[in-house]
Amino acid sequence: MESHILVWYRNDLRVHDHEPLHQALQRANVIPIYCFDPRQFGLTSFGFAKTGGFRAQFLLESVADLRYSLQKMGSDLIVCCGQPEQVIPKLVEQLNVTAIYAHRTVTSEEIAVETALQRALNRLDVPLKLFWGHTLYHLDDLPFNLRGIPEVFTTFRKQVEKHSTVNPTFPAPPALPALPPDLETGNLPTLAELGLTAPTQDIRARLAFQGGETAGQARLKHYFWTQNRLRVYKETRNGMLAPDDSSKFSPWLSLGCLSPRYVYEQVLQYEHERVQNDSTYWLIFELLWRDYFHFIAAKHGDKIFYPAGLQGISIPWKQDWQRFELWQEGKTGYPLVDANMRELAATGFMSNRGRQNVASFLTKNLGIDWRMGAEWFESQLLDYDVCSNWGNWNYTAGVGNDARGFRFFNILKQAKDYDPQGQYVQHWLPELAQIPGQLVHEPWKLSIAQQKQYGVRLGVDYPRPMVDLFKSAAANEKIYNDALQRG
Ligand SMILES: Cc1cc2nc3c(=O)[nH]c(=O)nc-3n(C[C@H](O)[C@H](O)[C@H](O)COP(=O)(O)OP(=O)(O)OC[C@H]3O[C@@H](n4cnc5c(N)ncnc54)[C@H](O)[C@@H]3O)c2cc1C
Repeated sequence: MESHILVWYRNDLRVHDHEPLHQALQRANVIPIYCFDPRQFGLTSFGFAKTGGFRAQFLLESVADLRYSLQKMGSDLIVCCGQPEQVIPKLVEQLNVTAIYAHRTVTSEEIAVETALQRALNRLDVPLKLFWGHTLYHLDDLPFNLRGIPEVFTTFRKQVEKHSTVNPTFPAPPALPALPPDLETGNLPTLAELGLTAPTQDIRARLAFQGGETAGQARLKHYFWTQNRLRVYKETRNGMLAPDDSSKFSPWLSLGCLSPRYVYEQVLQYEHERVQNDSTYWLIFELLWRDYFHFIAAKHGDKIFYPAGLQGISIPWKQDWQRFELWQEGKTGYPLVDANMRELAATGFMSNRGRQNVASFLTKNLGIDWRMGAEWFESQLLDYDVCSNWGNWNYTAGVGNDARGFRFFNILKQAKDYDPQGQYVQHWLPELAQIPGQLVHEPWKLSIAQQKQYGVRLGVDYPRPMVDLFKSAAANEKIYNDALQRG
C-alpha cells in the first residue's frame, strides 16, 4: 500500500504559501483533511455563540473554495464533522499514513486539540509534525527567542525590522496526487447542522465578504492593483464607511485564506511597479502588529484571557448585563459607539477605529468586564483571531503589557475627527439620519423644536447618553489607579 501524509487544515485554508502541504508533497501522497470541530460551535464562557453566523458562513465558503482548488489540482479535501483527535486516528488506521502535517498554533484551546491528537497518534506510532506559518516573520528568524519577545510593540518592531527578514512564500503545487479511490470525502455541513441560522445580508453593508483563498486574492487584487488604494492606505485607513478605506484583508488573514507573506510580496511588487511611500510601508507595519500579538500570546499563554490581563492589574470589573446589552445593541446614546455596534451586529465587521472606541467606552466609561466585550467580538467578528482579539482587548482595557496607564478615547472628539460630516453615523442609525452632520454626534443637545424638525424624539426614538462621558471616565480612572496601587 502506498504511504500517505495527512495535511490537517485548520486556520490555514489555502494552497499558496502552505508549508505542510509543500513538505508533505515532497515525501508521500497527500491527503488533505478539514474537521468541523463541534467545540468551535459551542458557547463562550459568557454564553455567546462561539462562532456566530457571519463567520460560520465565511468558514463554509472558505472550506468549499479550498476543496475546489484541491480538486482542480487532482486531489480533494476530506471533510469531517467531529473532534480531530477522534476523526484523524480512524483515518490513520484505515490508510497507510506515515505522518500528519499541520500548522502550529499558540493558544490553549488549539494547543489542547494538538496535544490530544498527538496522544492518540502516539498509540499508532504516527507523528504529528507542526510547522510555523501564521505570521509574517518565522519564529526561528526573530532576533530573540520566545521568552525574550519584547513586551513593548515599538521595541519588538524595531528589532525585527533591523535583524530579521521575511521568508519567501511556498508556491502552490501545480498538481496533487489523486486520493485513494474508495475514500469517502464527505459533505460540508449546513449552517443549520452547525446549530446556526443563516445571517441576513444587510443592504447597508458596503462590502460583501466572500470566504476563501480565491476571494481573498481577488480582494487584494482589487485593493492594490485595480483601485490602486495601497498608495493612500495610511491616509485613509481610519475611515469607517468606504469599503476601500482600509484593506479589509483581516477575515482572509484570520482563516489563513491569505498568507501574510503573500501580502508582503505583493506590497514589494507594488512598490517596485507603482510607488513606494509611507502608505506601502504602513500596511507592513500593521501586519507587524498582527505578528506582535501572535508572538506575545505564544509567550504568555493563558494570561491574555485573565481578567487582570498581561499586566496582572486586578480591577474590580463590573458584570452589569443591563448596561452591557445596551452596548451590544448599539443603544448607549453615543452615536459613534452605537453605529459601530450596529454595524458589527449587521455585518460581522467593524473598522479598527470603531473597535478602539467601542472597547474604550465599554471598559473606561462603563467599567464593564473587558472579557465580556472580547467574547462578544469573538462571537460576532468575521475576522476573529484569538491573538489579535484578546491582545487588542488587553491593550484597550489597560491591562495589556504595552498599555500606558488609564487612557480613554474621547468619543466626541473621535467622532468629529473621523466622521466629521456624520455620514457614518447616519448610515447605521436611521433614526438620526435627518439630523445635520454637525449636530448628529450630540443629539442630546437638540432642542424640542429641532427634535421635531429632524424627526427624532430623544429618549423615545433614540436614547439619551447612558453615562456622562467625562464623569464616568474619571470614576473608572480612580478605580484603575486604586487597583494599580494595590499592586
Ligand atoms: C478591541 C479590538 C479587537 C480586535 N480584534 C481583532 C480580531 O479578532 N481579528 C483581527 O484580525 N483583528 C482584530 N483587531 C485589529 C484590527 O481592528 C483589525 O485587524 C482591522 O480593523 C481589520 O481591518 P483591515 O483588514 O481593513 O485592516 P487594515 O488597516 O487594512 O490592516 C491590514 C492588516 O493588518 C492587521 N492589523 C491591523 N491592525 C491590527 C491590530 N491592531 N492588531 C492586529 N492586527 C492588525 C490585520 O491583519 C489587517 O487585516 C482588533 C482591534 C481591536 C481594537
